[in-house]
Amino acid sequence: MTSKQGQPGATGFHDRYGLTRIINARGTFTPLGVSRSSVRVGDAVAEALQHYVVIDELQDAASEGIARHIGAEAGAVTHCVAAAITLSVAAAMAGTRPDDIARLPDATGLRNRVVLPAGHAVHYGHPISQAVSLAGATPILAGNAETCPLSALESALGHPETCCLLLVSSRLIEGESIDLAAAVETAHRRGLPVIIDGAAQDLRIGELLATKADLVLVSAHKYMASPTAGLVIGRQELVQAVRAQEQGIGRGMKATKEAIVGVLCALEERAALDLDQWCQAQEDKVSRFVDRAKAIDGLMASTVADPAGMPFPRVHLSLTSGPTSMNAAALAAALKSKKPPIWVMEEKLAKGEIVLELVQTQDDEIDEILARLGAILS
Ligand SMILES: *Cc1c(COP(=O)(O)O)cnc(C)c1O
Repeated sequence: MTSKQGQPGATGFHDRYGLTRIINARGTFTPLGVSRSSVRVGDAVAEALQHYVVIDELQDAASEGIARHIGAEAGAVTHCVAAAITLSVAAAMAGTRPDDIARLPDATGLRNRVVLPAGHAVHYGHPISQAVSLAGATPILAGNAETCPLSALESALGHPETCCLLLVSSRLIEGESIDLAAAVETAHRRGLPVIIDGAAQDLRIGELLATKADLVLVSAHKYMASPTAGLVIGRQELVQAVRAQEQGIGRGMKATKEAIVGVLCALEERAALDLDQWCQAQEDKVSRFVDRAKAIDGLMASTVADPAGMPFPRVHLSLTSGPTSMNAAALAAALKSKKPPIWVMEEKLAKGEIVLELVQTQDDEIDEILARLGAILS
């Protein structure tokens, strides 16, 4: 996100550990290390590692930081968003009751049904339903993959053993989009809390909180570029119940002191960011890439907005039926087969498209990508 990044182009780091230097045009992807933090965040983390702290005080400071910078009642830091999903569901079942916290994931006798629209049952490296089951809860899919009308949500939420509604805001969701605010209202009418997984939607956090969801979960290590961490943001009472899970199943999902300090630093950097200017820079970066890609024989390029509404575009590339008989899948494979391997988004390959996310891709890497494309297609 910031201009003061380290020197990811330098190979010293990778050589030392025998690692492959890669060029990431695939976005905030977990198997590639997600993001690159600023030097400032790195320094804050290094400093935190030198000290003892009262973790509760540090989580309180994080809550204040989240409240101040994001404008919510309270917040907490968890190991990651997958952990935040499990712990938020656990919190909806067990509250702050020590006995119930201690016996999870055995949720017998607790209200343990978690309603999730079927199209929101996303797979972000593992199925979200597994993050729900880990707490001891049972995911209940409402509607089908194509559509989940409010009436389908109503009837699923009507079951007396329901503990919460889980919604997802992501470019990964399928089917007709759901009016999140209306879904939240449907659950609230039944006195049920709502959790929104907006892991990669941190730049839209205000919009997600405006739905009146009780908890919104976003990643701190994706676009905010902190160390690995998830943010739980929302109502004080439920945030406290999430934190209380550290005496239960949350033990193995805790945020480290260095991650919490890194999050506080990354939050400050985000607050200092001129968002309009940043968005303009993303537009310019993508349109410059598209212009240069179009000049390559055999390649078509266009700018495409993010389907979930994140405020930056991506590059879509496809092949003309020109001299090469290559398809998109072969082009993606060719990009990855030389050194350094270039990783792109592959979910549109079947439609003949390669998608590139350039938010954290640096100018020298962009030059390398365009040179590689030119070489492959010449
Ligand atoms: C990335 C992502 C997650 C998981 O986030 P982690 O912090 O890597 O655990 C969950 N849900 C969605 C929609 C995601 O995009």
